[in-house]
Amino acid sequence: MKRLIIVAVFFVFTMLSCAVGKSVIKPDSDIFTIKTNSPSDKISRKVLMAGNWKMNKTVSESLSVIKTLKKAVSDVKDVEILIFPSYTALQAINNETKDSNINIGAQNLFWEAKGAFTGEISPAMIKDTGCSYVLIGHSERRQYFGETDETVNKKIKAAMAEGLIPIVCIGETLKEMETNVTFQAIEKHMKEGLAGLTVEQASSLVIVYEPVWAIGTGIPVTPDRAQETHAFIRKIYAKMYKEAADKIRILYGASVNPENVSAFMKKPDIDGSLVGKASLEAESFSKLIKYSK
Ligand code: PEP
Repeated sequence: MKRLIIVAVFFVFTMLSCAVGKSVIKPDSDIFTIKTNSPSDKISRKVLMAGNWKMNKTVSESLSVIKTLKKAVSDVKDVEILIFPSYTALQAINNETKDSNINIGAQNLFWEAKGAFTGEISPAMIKDTGCSYVLIGHSERRQYFGETDETVNKKIKAAMAEGLIPIVCIGETLKEMETNVTFQAIEKHMKEGLAGLTVEQASSLVIVYEPVWAIGTGIPVTPDRAQETHAFIRKIYAKMYKEAADKIRILYGASVNPENVSAFMKKPDIDGSLVGKASLEAESFSKLIKYSK
C-alpha cells in the first residue's frame, strides 16, 4: 500500500514537472551535449517485444500458452518476438517454436563453463536448448539472489563467448528514485556492468531500462520520463562505445500492457519492451505485440 501511494505521488509530481517544462531528473554531467539517435537510427532498429515469464508455468502450461500465441502472431513480421520461459520448459518450447517467428531465451545463466556449481546452468547448456538470448541482471535477481554489476559483467561476457545475445536490465530502486539519484544509479550499472566489451560485442546486446519501483505495480512511468531516461542511457553508451549506441535496442520494462504500449513505442529512444504480467497470457501478449495494428 505504502509503495502504491509513493508511486502515485511520484506520478503526479512527474506530470506537474513536465507540465511546467522542468525535468525531475538532474543531469550530473555534460552528457547531454553528446548527439545520438537520428530518426533513421530508430527505423533501422527492429522492434523487440520480450515476455519474461519469471517463475510461472509448468511445461504443459507453457506449451498451452505458446501454441495459442504462435497462431495469434504468425502474421507479425515487423516486430521481433521473444519469450523467456522457465529453464524446465525451454526444450519443449523450442520444439514448439522452432519453425515460427518466436525466439526464446533463458532468464539467467552462470558464467563458468562447467564444474562443481550445483544448481547452476552454463551458457553452453542454454545454447543447447535452442536459446538465442539470455536475460541478465533482472532487478529480482539483484534483489533476491545477490546479483551485482560485477556478476552481470561476467555473465555478459560468458554469454557472448557462447554466441548468446544478452538482454541486460538496469534501473533505479525506489530509494534511488526518492533520493533523486536515478541517473547516477543508471550510470553506475552501465559503467560497471557493461565494461570491457569490444565495439562489436557492445553493438549486439540489448539494454532494458526498468524502474524497479514500477515493476509489477500496474503503474508505469510516463512515456516522457521513460524517453528522458532512455536518451540518457544512449548518451552514456555513446561515451563508452561510440557508434554502438545508435545500433543497440533499448527496451522499456515495468507495467507495460496492451493499452499503454503504443505511447511508449512512439518515443524515439524506445525500441520495444520487456513485459512481465501482460506476457503470461497469449491474448494480452499478442495484442501488445500488435500494438501498431
Ligand atoms: C519485469 O519484471 O521485467 C516486468 C516488466 O514486469 P511487469 O511487466 O509485470 O511490470
